[in-house]
Amino acid sequence: MRCSSCSLDAAIYIRHLRRALCPAHLEQYLVEKVRRVVEGHLPPRGGLLLVAVSGGKDSAAAASLLKELSGEAGFRLGLVHVDLNIGSYSEACRRAAVELAESIGAPIALIDLEGVLGAGVVEVAERVGRPTCSACGVVKRYLLNLAALEAGAHRLATGHNLDDIAAYALKAHLTQEGDYASKLLRHTEGFEGFVGRLRPLMEVEEREALVYALSKPLPFSHEECPHFNRRGIELKAKRFLMSVEADSPGFKASFIRRLAKRPPVGGAEPRLGRCDLCGLPSSAGRCAFCRMMRRALGEAWEPGALRGAVAEAVAKLK
Ligand code: SF4
Ligand code: ZN
Ligand code: ZN
Repeated sequence: MRCSSCSLDAAIYIRHLRRALCPAHLEQYLVEKVRRVVEGHLPPRGGLLLVAVSGGKDSAAAASLLKELSGEAGFRLGLVHVDLNIGSYSEACRRAAVELAESIGAPIALIDLEGVLGAGVVEVAERVGRPTCSACGVVKRYLLNLAALEAGAHRLATGHNLDDIAAYALKAHLTQEGDYASKLLRHTEGFEGFVGRLRPLMEVEEREALVYALSKPLPFSHEECPHFNRRGIELKAKRFLMSVEADSPGFKASFIRRLAKRPPVGGAEPRLGRCDLCGLPSSAGRCAFCRMMRRALGEAWEPGALRGAVAEAVAKLK
């Protein structure tokens, strides 16, 4: 198949556009998509946009596409990777994140859980009796925000793609659990102690990100986390949405847009106070992360040393 815009071989066929694209034209198409999504939400000239890179294809694609925009928009791009210490999976992810940083020419900060907490995510989860993914979510959310704060970043970008967001929203809608409204936004505003989020791949399909990462090519890890729940509702929701999309191209994007207009599940936003240990925003007296760390690491655990270690890790991004 030939590219619809030039004579080169196509890497992908975009069904809703009825166009085949070669790697260069796919990049152009995705850069324009990302530009539309992030427009008006980028850091000012000289400001830092921090991208959370997991080592996987999506955050690699997000970092690379944002790098394409950083020159003309004049913001600085930095990467941050949290090493969860999940055996060979984490080793592969860390290696890929470092290689990605080299390949796109962006500085990277590495936060090693065992280094900053003295325990990997599996150990933390076991000690508090929580499912690994649940503990992992709390740890990643907290550390990425802390890294962005310490680096003085204007925004924190994540690699969630259209399929991730649509599947999350469908699951939340079906189970009526959690407030998914903020997850359907391209960006969320920051406030004291919280760095605003950016979802540059909000309108980029998983297959588009994969083909882009393969054809560029970008370094990324193909390994799946051993704790990933292949029986989870979210994966089923993702497959269901893909099958609908196959018959109705454009369905996922319009599903999200329609859902984003509905009132959030669960009523009003909780009022945020401050965590009595770390001082960061929390809807309870103590934030979920500090509560979990006290249970996992003992009542003597204090967040001060962690904050210092994270500040040291991100110092090179400033
Ligand atoms: Fe963390 Fe679960 Fe994802 Fe593994 S699958 S990286 S444990 S959230
Ligand atoms: Zn082309
Ligand atoms: Zn706290």
